Order: sequence, then structure tokens, then C-alpha cells
Amino acid sequence: MNALHFSTIRRTKIVATLGPASDREGVLEAMLKAGVDVVRLNFSHGTADDHRRRLTEVREIAAQLGRSVAVLGDLQGPKIRIARFRDGAVVLKEGQPFILDMALDGDAGDSHQVGCDYKTLSKDVTAGDRLLLDDGRLVLDVARVDGQQVHTTVVVGGKLSNHKGINKQGGGLSAPALTEKDKEDLKTAVEIGVDYLAISFPRHAEDMLEARRLLGEEGKEIGLVAKVERAEAVADDATLDGIIEASEAVMVARGDLGVEIGDAKLVGVQKRMIKRARSLNRAVITATQMMESMISAPLPTRAEVFDVANAVLDGSDAVMLSAETAAGDYPLETVEAMSRVCLGAEREKTAQESGHRIHEGFTRPDETIALSAMYAANHMTGITAIACMTSSGYTPLIASRIRSGLPIVGLAHNPIAQRRMALYRGVVSLPFDTSEMSATELNDRALELLVKTGISKPGDHVILTRGDHMNAHGGTNTMKVMEITDEHAKS
Ligand code: PEP
Repeated sequence: MNALHFSTIRRTKIVATLGPASDREGVLEAMLKAGVDVVRLNFSHGTADDHRRRLTEVREIAAQLGRSVAVLGDLQGPKIRIARFRDGAVVLKEGQPFILDMALDGDAGDSHQVGCDYKTLSKDVTAGDRLLLDDGRLVLDVARVDGQQVHTTVVVGGKLSNHKGINKQGGGLSAPALTEKDKEDLKTAVEIGVDYLAISFPRHAEDMLEARRLLGEEGKEIGLVAKVERAEAVADDATLDGIIEASEAVMVARGDLGVEIGDAKLVGVQKRMIKRARSLNRAVITATQMMESMISAPLPTRAEVFDVANAVLDGSDAVMLSAETAAGDYPLETVEAMSRVCLGAEREKTAQESGHRIHEGFTRPDETIALSAMYAANHMTGITAIACMTSSGYTPLIASRIRSGLPIVGLAHNPIAQRRMALYRGVVSLPFDTSEMSATELNDRALELLVKTGISKPGDHVILTRGDHMNAHGGTNTMKVMEITDEHAKS
């Protein structure tokens, strides 16, 4: 196993989307070496074979590097799109009329009208609604609905090409989160063995529960990620909490969400979502356009540096790259820049201080131990790590909801649990098989591993959490402050 350099362990995880850019010779390996923790397979593009090939390659490279890298499948969801134009892109001019016609042939669009792949759009909108096309670059106001035709006036014009997305400002499109394509892709995701599955455009908790039902017994180890990108998902606290609680993680999907709720509200919603997710013991990913200019430039803008840093200071478990690594010219440089910025932001004192749940009661023994261990670690001089023997990764998840400057080491036997922890902020997962160990040697073996991996050294103190049955993995009910001795460094 490669030694870790504790002084440079990055706490905030990096999710990188794969695509043609990362397919170039040697790029994926270089990205993983540069510290990508989770790769995203975007089911909006590519075939089942593309996703299978990329997943296999990730697993192979991760095994060579001795790292646990999680794979996140991301379903397309009901992204509503216009159909196609007869002669390529058109230019819409401010003030002109434009018709979205559900009955128009898919290839017959022109500068007056275009078809739509979402046939119920004409039922979901009324006069006065505002439609945003191509991520909000073009704005159309609905003048009237006439049968299958939505008559609009162009408020902000520009170039419009085939298949551009449509959002309704304020939300309210009735499309369910899981389309027929998503249900097929979900089966592929289970079959190829993703660790997390992202559901796009959930409206409420029920959409997540439906996805969980579809995952079935075979996909029960897959963690569900709710991509929060619809206005109705953040319209009130109860709906947002319901979605968070029905998922293992949530994503602040700022692209579509920003279009639906408007950019002015986006900042507050990002902060609220991160806070709620952490309070409800869920992981949270901040996504979209984080390093957008690096699609075609080797350095980020100052604004992008601050965006990533602020997402770190807000408490994100992970920050995500989309087209930057999937289709950009500088995928490796982007990962390196993001990693650098995260490390810099994490050094800020506010990133390490926490009042998390300090006035709340706890109900579970493992939760109580996890939070107590963090409290002790953050307050006792000389502690260099918190090591948790865990079967599912639950104790490290709960511990990592508390901000700290210390690494939380998840010692797990199960590779699924090891990869699950790749998303949690501040958690380093290490393989640790206790099945052949006697009860008396467990703690020493764990401390030896910490020394071997470069996390701790003789003279350091660490906090160890474990259960006292099932070979210490699972049922956490114990916490110990232990000193690393020269003996631990000898093995
Ligand atoms: C988003 O809208 O911000 C997002 C992450 O979704 P996608 O990249 O699938 O459009």
C-alpha cells in the first residue's frame, strides 16, 4: 500500500465526469493519481458498453494504485428538450413570435417553430409562464396555448440548435423523475456494479423511493444520490428534507436548479442544502460549472477559485467536475487545480471548527460514539487521527459530519463499504480484515496500519472506535484513546 502524506491529505472529495477527454491515452490514470475520488458515468451520453468499459478501467487503475475510487452512475432524467431544425441552428430575435409545437415532425424546425420531445409541455404551461432554453441563454414568454402549440414571444434571443433543454421558471413541469430510458439505464448501472446512482430531477421523496424499489435486491448496496435541480424540490423545508432523508447523498445540481429558481436564489439554496444534508447525516456534492473556463484554458479564473473554496467552506463533502474532465482540453490540470484550491480552503480555521449537533440528543450507540470521538479528537492535544473499524462505513459518515482538521480513517473489510467512504469528507478508507485476528491484537494491528500508511507515527495519539462483537466491524459501542509506540512501527 502506498504511504499517504498526511500533511497533504485533501478532505474534500473530487467527483470527475468521464467522457472522450478522459478516454485519451493515459488521462484517466493521471486523473486518478492526481486525486479523483469518485468518477461519474453520465448516462445522458454514451452506450452501456462505454459505461462498462470505463468502470472496468477505473477499477483496474484503482486496484493498481491501492485506492478506493467510487463510481457514480448519473441517470439522465426527464430533461425536456426541443427537437431538431431542418437546416441546422437558427437565430431567434428579441420580440419575434416562436412556436413550440408538440405535433410538429421532429426534424421540421425552423426560425418560426420547433418540435418538442416532451409531449405534455402544452398541458403544463399557460399564458404568462416563462420558458428558459439552453440553460437560460434564451428566454421565451408564453403568449397562449393553442391545442398542441405553445405560442411564445422571444424575450432574450440568440442561437438555438438541436435538442437544447427547456426549463420552466419557477418549476411545475409534471414529468416524473424516472423515464423509460432511465429504467433501462438503472438496470445497466446495477449490472455493471456502480457504487452510487444519481437520480435527476426528483420532485419529492417518493421519486427517490421509487428508484430504490427499482434497484431491488440486486442493487441494494448502491447509494442513491438525489440531484436537486427542480424548483419544487427546494420550495419548502419539508420537501427538501424528505428528499435528503430518502437518499444516501444529495447533489446541489446548480445547472438546472439555477435556471428554474434564478441565480439570485441559488447561493442561499446551496448553503441551506449543504447544512441540511450534514444535519441529516447525508453526504453532499456541489456541482456544475465549478471550473467551467478550464474546458479550454489551463488555469481557473479567480471567480472559479473562490467558487470551489466557498463550496469547501460551506461544508460540501465533494465538489464535482462535468464537461471540464469529460470533454475539456485540460482534464488533468483541472483536477490538479481543484485539488489545490480545496487544500488551501481547508486550511482556513472555519473549515475545521464545528458546533454540529452540540445542543441535540442522540439515539444510537454508534452515532453517540462517532460524535463523541470527534469531540474528543478536536479537543485533545496530540491526537493525529480517528480510526473507525466499520462494516458499512456508517461510523465514519457520522463522524465526518463534524468539521475537523484530523483524518477519519475508515477501516473496513468490505470493498463496497471502502468505496462508499470515498465520497465522505475527511475520510480515508483502508482495507482491514479482522476475520483472522484475535480480539487482543485488533487494536495493535489497526495502529500498525496507521503507521504503515504514513497517517501516524510513534508518539502520536489516536482515537479508535469499534464494536465488541462481529470482529469489531459493526455495532460500534467503544472508543479508546491510544498511543502509537515504537512497536507499532516495527511490523
Ligand atoms: C446540473 O444540472 O447541475 C447537473 C449536475 O445535471 P446534468 O449535468 O446532468 O445536467
